[in-house]
Amino acid sequence: PYQDMSKDRLLDIRKNNCNPMTMKVTYYKKPVFINQGYMQWLWDVDGRRYMDLFAGVATVSVGHCNPKVTETAEKQLRRLWHTTAIYVYPQIQEYAEKLASLLPDPLKVVYFTNSGSEANDLAVLMARLYTGNFDVITLRGSYHGGSPQATGLTSNADYKYPILSSMGCHNTMCPDVFRGLWGGSHCRDSPVQTIRECSCSPGTNTHTYYQKLKEMFATTVPNRIAAFFAEPIQGVGGAVQFPKNYLKDTYQFVREKGGICIADEVQTGFGRTGSHFWGFQGHNVLPDMVTVAKGIANGFPMGAVVTTAEIARSFGKGVHFNTFGGNPLACAVASSVLDTIKEDKMQENSTEVGTYLLTELAKLRDKYEIIGDVRGKGLQIGVEMVKDKASRDPLPPVAMAEIFEDTKDMGVLIGKGGLYGQTFRIKPPMCITKDDADFFLAVFNQAVQNYMERR
Ligand code: PMP
Repeated sequence: PYQDMSKDRLLDIRKNNCNPMTMKVTYYKKPVFINQGYMQWLWDVDGRRYMDLFAGVATVSVGHCNPKVTETAEKQLRRLWHTTAIYVYPQIQEYAEKLASLLPDPLKVVYFTNSGSEANDLAVLMARLYTGNFDVITLRGSYHGGSPQATGLTSNADYKYPILSSMGCHNTMCPDVFRGLWGGSHCRDSPVQTIRECSCSPGTNTHTYYQKLKEMFATTVPNRIAAFFAEPIQGVGGAVQFPKNYLKDTYQFVREKGGICIADEVQTGFGRTGSHFWGFQGHNVLPDMVTVAKGIANGFPMGAVVTTAEIARSFGKGVHFNTFGGNPLACAVASSVLDTIKEDKMQENSTEVGTYLLTELAKLRDKYEIIGDVRGKGLQIGVEMVKDKASRDPLPPVAMAEIFEDTKDMGVLIGKGGLYGQTFRIKPPMCITKDDADFFLAVFNQAVQNYMERR
């Protein structure tokens, strides 16, 4: 059995037979060999315990092998794994109704997929059919998936290939007020930033990002588009938060240009941002379509598109079919995830522990010259590392790797992101406690201090 394979043999297979490119993102000099998980904890093959603050990239929403969800999955495994959409089976209807009930009107029609990429592909198709337009705009730094279509939406060179993919996808400047070319301010109510006067008004830096988007309609797209896509807080991009009103203004403008607005909630959905169940609610906007995956089923492969009956009608002229999408097992698991989030008050916990983490991390930002920015909401957190605060140049990959490795060696797993790999990402299972947060803060403080002493 695989448990008996040596670590060298496992690495050998990974290098030669198993998507060798993943070695690029294995990150650690001494890789972690995961064997088992329970809630916010992972154990490696030697029995060493790690606190998992990356959660399979914001996917393990209610904890590894969460007992309630696992029990539901076990029961469903004995009852029915798979059937096809030509039959009516209760799990899919029950779950579609439950999911739709959590979205505001008129977002009530659900299509199931198996992943975020598939959901975003389907969203683009629907948007084009509904609007009769072709072009789609996304924000630079975003990640929306790895399919040929979704790589066009994605705006991060690491995931781009020199092939013809997804024509009609355009990326505009991301209103990243920390690293973006035009700077700006968030004007946000956040525990880590004083509320500044809103600078989104005409003539200010933040407004320039919005002007840039508008300019595309004179230069890049045929004055009409099918859709505008954005994550409410960028995930892979490094927890980039947009200034107040950016999405609101953009949604309005896009609609004037015949396009629909799509919120990619693959990372930010299901209570992760704490204050709201969906990330878009934090921007005070109402999308025409929402795409979800990752945390929807706590790691079981599943995704969905939720849209309006009107949009669904124009899509429904053909037949859309997905063999595994919304299978009984996935729906039973996802349904149990929703129950667990509610029963165990995980959204509330995201607010409480997330705000605590942000507040304490902001103190470390003030203490260390190489912590440039701390941002996020709930348990979708980014810590952007810099060479120094004056230049804001990204902390080089070697330095990032040292801090990352040290954090892991002290027992905590976090993620990395941002266009230059300069942002640590913290997106733990939503069952993490304040004590866990304290442990991480002590470890991270030590890792940064160790690096400062060495350099
Ligand atoms: N959208 C976002 C915001 C994501 O973070 C990801 C995955 N990192 C995707 C879409 C694609 O999801 P999947 O890997 O399930 O295809």
